[in-house]
Amino acid sequence: MNEDRPIPYRPLTDTPADQPDERRKGVIRNEPGQPFEHYCPECGRWGSFGFNCDSIKGIPGIWYCGKHKALGERIGRLS
Ligand SMILES: [Zn+2]
Repeated sequence: MNEDRPIPYRPLTDTPADQPDERRKGVIRNEPGQPFEHYCPECGRWGSFGFNCDSIKGIPGIWYCGKHKALGERIGRLS
């Protein structure tokens, strides 16, 4: 058994990232050895646009898809 073997990646759901998914709304997964995942809180699509995030401080922020990006821009302006 190889101890260095990375943890197998398991997607949250089998819905493609560019499709809405209720179960993924606002989900942020940031675990060691796993890809950083962030989904739109409005629809559950992949969040391409991050707001109020700071990777140095470990703040994952909030991520919106292209369709709901304007909502994030509103939040970003408040901070
Ligand atoms: Zn969205």
